[in-house]
Amino acid sequence: MKKILNKPISKKRISKRRYSPRLCKKPDCKKVFTPTDARQHYCEPQHRIDHNNDLRKIKYEPDRIFLESIKTNFKVLDKIIRSPFYIQNKTVNFSLLDYEGYDLTIYHSKVIDDKSGRDILICYHYGLECIDTETNQYRIHILKK
Ligand SMILES: [Zn+2]
Repeated sequence: MKKILNKPISKKRISKRRYSPRLCKKPDCKKVFTPTDARQHYCEPQHRIDHNNDLRKIKYEPDRIFLESIKTNFKVLDKIIRSPFYIQNKTVNFSLLDYEGYDLTIYHSKVIDDKSGRDILICYHYGLECIDTETNQYRIHILKK
């Protein structure tokens, strides 16, 4: 008895269409390849993964920098407000904030104090207010919830 072998039929449709060669989308690859599918933009799957990871890094980099800086600001304020010097004087000079690594351009929000009309830079539950622009003296507020 003859055994008939059934060839498995591939479900994947193989296109006979030929695509013109294109340059791999991964910027540093520069390889020209012939796609087998119109949606293929990379010479190999790893280059698609690498490029997408790189794009993700670029996208989240500003967030990472902001978060690092705001955390540094918080640590500086937290350290100063607990220092015997600050407890006694209730003000801090900007030179000390600067020395500790405080960045005045980084804050969660800026509010205007009702009484003084001055800006208060919010960093988590702290607020930093410049109380004297000539002497560069600052006051740290603890915000109530
Ligand atoms: Zn490539």
